[in-house]
Amino acid sequence: MQTGGPISLATPMRFAADPPAQADVVVIGGGIAGVATALYLAEAGRRVVLCEKGRIAGEQSSRNWGWVRQQGRDPAELPVMIHALRLWDGLQQRLGEAVGLRRTGTTYLANGPADLANFESWLPHARAHGLDTRMLSRAELDALLPSAAGWVGGLHTASDARAEPWTAVPAIAGLAAEAGASLHESCAVRAVETAAGRVSGVVTEKGPIAAPQVLLAGGAWSSLLARHAGLGFPQLAVRATVAATPPMPEFHAGNAADSGFAFRRRADGGYTLAPGIGHDFWVGPDAFRNLGAFLPQIRRDMRHTRLAPAAPRHYPDAWGTPRRWAADAASPFEAMRVLDPAPNLGRIQTLRDDFAAAFPALGRPAIARAWAGMIDVTPDQVPVLDETLMPGFHIARVVQDHGFGIERCAIVKAILGRAPQHELRRFRFSRFSDGSRVELGPSI
Ligand SMILES: Cc1cc2nc3c(=O)[nH]c(=O)nc-3n(C[C@H](O)[C@H](O)[C@H](O)COP(=O)(O)OP(=O)(O)OC[C@H]3O[C@@H](n4cnc5c(N)ncnc54)[C@H](O)[C@@H]3O)c2cc1C
Repeated sequence: MQTGGPISLATPMRFAADPPAQADVVVIGGGIAGVATALYLAEAGRRVVLCEKGRIAGEQSSRNWGWVRQQGRDPAELPVMIHALRLWDGLQQRLGEAVGLRRTGTTYLANGPADLANFESWLPHARAHGLDTRMLSRAELDALLPSAAGWVGGLHTASDARAEPWTAVPAIAGLAAEAGASLHESCAVRAVETAAGRVSGVVTEKGPIAAPQVLLAGGAWSSLLARHAGLGFPQLAVRATVAATPPMPEFHAGNAADSGFAFRRRADGGYTLAPGIGHDFWVGPDAFRNLGAFLPQIRRDMRHTRLAPAAPRHYPDAWGTPRRWAADAASPFEAMRVLDPAPNLGRIQTLRDDFAAAFPALGRPAIARAWAGMIDVTPDQVPVLDETLMPGFHIARVVQDHGFGIERCAIVKAILGRAPQHELRRFRFSRFSDGSRVELGPSI
């Protein structure tokens, strides 16, 4: 079994040139949030420069499960996500198989009546937005997953989709470059600069870039850079392990999960498997700093989390990672070009056992490759898509297991100074500091 992410520092650089000295917008981070925003801004005629410290899609955006789902989302996310699916359809038409979008549905699998009742509690949100979500009886589930044993029913949204993360995101980056965006790999942003109370640009390891607007789309690194710019906000990250089977006969075309494990068919004929919502958490300084904000989530979801003593060296919240640095010296972002956590091999063995118990006719699956990703988490489990309290400095933090699918037009419109298409109050930056109570998203 090979270990390590699908995109790493060994992946050849496509965008190696030095960045220009000026731009309308600097985008920090070359994950899905950064490249999609760069694409739409370039198509709107803005001079966009995107800086990525390592490789395009080297971190979460190539390591995720590839679910593009509406099912189970926070009600405030649903209109945004329904819109996002239409944009994904458009990307599929433009880029074809690299995106690999298939509307093959999402199914949550129930182990008993408590799961069924929990799934049913989400149906009113689906109905309110005209989604095709429905409960599945045992017989309907048998028809959908004939080789499965044990599950008593499920929740199903046929219009949900899957896509291929490690080919889709680099392809969208290519489209952004064609549209005129200037992309730069191995180009860490060390600091955000301000003048007269607003953003004036960034300092990269390859020199300064002056710009009146900056978008921080740095995934698990976002709060480290934001705090350096004087804007603290609560963020933690957890390690999630993923395994990929080699090609195997199709037993299900879409995305599916119960509380123990998750699976989805890939375009190459293999399956991406994962231990569901189980993950590992390395306790670092931010765990203590953000304890209060995360308490509601800890109380509800702690049983899915295993604590580990300290993050490896150079990780965003490692004890030794500097929180202060000078813009003319190497920053923590250059010390870790691609965050590539080792997968939790124990979880993979359990996952294979769980799979064999659920699909006795298929047995323990072969694993061709395993990797892990650091999923960044907000206290309420919904994204931040907003201008920060510093004019011109925007944040797109697309969090949890949500952010591959969801759209970034909200932040594009804010940068362009246009009225938002959706109600975005739930995603405001200030909600963590304006005295609001933490309202957790649904836990289905
Ligand atoms: C195992 C796993 C499974 C998941 N499954 C799903 C799923 O099925 N569906 C779904 O919708 N979402 C899923 N997610 C979540 C989803 O992948 C993320 O929400 C999304 O990819 C985040 O995109 P991003 O662009 O914000 O961050 P990232 O993809 O992490 O990109 C951030 C980039 O910023 C760069 N960067 C950081 N700091 C700097 C700096 N100072 N200078 C320059 N560059 C910098 C980093 O190198 C990185 O490449 C999953 C995540 C994981 C890890």
